[in-house]
Parts: sequence; structure tokens; C-alpha cells
Amino acid sequence: MRGANSRLVLFDVDGTLISTGGRAGAAFGEALQHVFGCRGPIEGYRWAGKTDPLIARELMLAAGVEPAVIEANLPRLFARYLENLSAALAPGTVTVLPGVLPLLDELERRGVAMGLLTGNVAAGAEIKLRVAGLAGRFRFGAYGSDSADRNLLVPVALERAREALGREFRAEHTVVVGDAEADIRCARAGGALAVAVASGWTPRAVLAALHPDALLDTLEPPPALDAILGV
Ligand SMILES: [Mg+2]
Repeated sequence: MRGANSRLVLFDVDGTLISTGGRAGAAFGEALQHVFGCRGPIEGYRWAGKTDPLIARELMLAAGVEPAVIEANLPRLFARYLENLSAALAPGTVTVLPGVLPLLDELERRGVAMGLLTGNVAAGAEIKLRVAGLAGRFRFGAYGSDSADRNLLVPVALERAREALGREFRAEHTVVVGDAEADIRCARAGGALAVAVASGWTPRAVLAALHPDALLDTLEPPPALDAILGV
């Protein structure tokens, strides 16, 4: 087991820390409708592990919107989405998933460095976590607003960790915790360890097929803490 001091733990947001019960997806869909006049094939769309800009591009390309039009309107789309999200997420509408609070408490108590690695645009993650009561738990993060390609986000998170905490972290001592195949792939792409948790939309067997370093059903502490600190 590595010392807690050298370990960096990066959490995905949706399906890993919290659930908005579909409210964020609805807010995103309304923003697409408002800005582009259509939602694309949003019914049955697989959101898991995708960054917000990738979701917008995939749905609008499928709807036949020109790539240049999509790119030019992304700032308007995210402005509308964030307005919708703030309105949709009243207090009590965001569920913190099982084990998250005691796990974060225990990691904090041990002085383990923690940040976010999420496909959310930064302001979207901030709104969701604030409504969930998790504001202030994470001092830095790498977001969908940093790159549409999640596989590029581990190095961004390492840099943010250095800026926020004033010390260097290494990819091989970094653990990416997430509920989707894309979380495991981005950990691998960045040279980090992958702890998968089957608390979101992706079945456990699908996660297992990608051979994460550890695979959990929930983030309930004894097993989750052992997995995160022990891999
Ligand atoms: Mg997720």
C-alpha cells in the first residue's frame, strides 16, 4: 500500500458521487432545443462517461446540425444549460450515493488529496455538488470544459492538484474512481489506476470486462477505502 500522502484520488461526479435522477439530462435537452431547435436522439442516449461537449456534438451531429454551427453555439448552449440546471436542482433533488459521505470523511481524515475528474463543465459540477451538500469537498478538478476528450483529463487533474496543493503527484499513484467504461479508459490513457463502482448506469459485468484495478458495488467505506488506498 502506498502512503496516503502520495496518493491522489480523482472522483467522477454523476453515478459515482451523486445522482440527479435525470434532471440534469432534461436540463441539457431543453438547452439543445432552445439553442439548436432539436434534441437529436436523446431518448435512449448513452450519457455515461461522456463529456458535456462530446454529448452536445454527438446529439447534434446525429440531428444533422453542421459541425461549425455546433461549435459556434456551444457557449450559448452551456449558458442555457447552467440556467436550466440551477432552476431544476432545488434543494433535496440531488442524491448522494451510498458510502460517499463516510468515504470522503475518512479520506479527508487521513489527509488524502482528492479532486474531481468529470465530463461535466466545471460550473455544472459545482451546481450539482452544491445542491448535494458536497460544496467545498474538492479543491480542484479536471472537467469537460477543459477537454471534450476525457482521455486527456488525467494530466489536467495532475496539474490542477499541483497548483491547488503545492506538491507534485504522479499518475501511477493516482486513482480514478468512476462508474462508466470511459472512467476506466481515461485512467488507463493517463497512466493512472482505475477503481470502478457499479453504482451508475453501467452494469458490473461491463465494467469488469475492462479489468479495472478494483471493482466495487458501492463506495461504502471499508471495501471502498481499502480499494482506493490499496490498489
Ligand atoms: Mg459517471
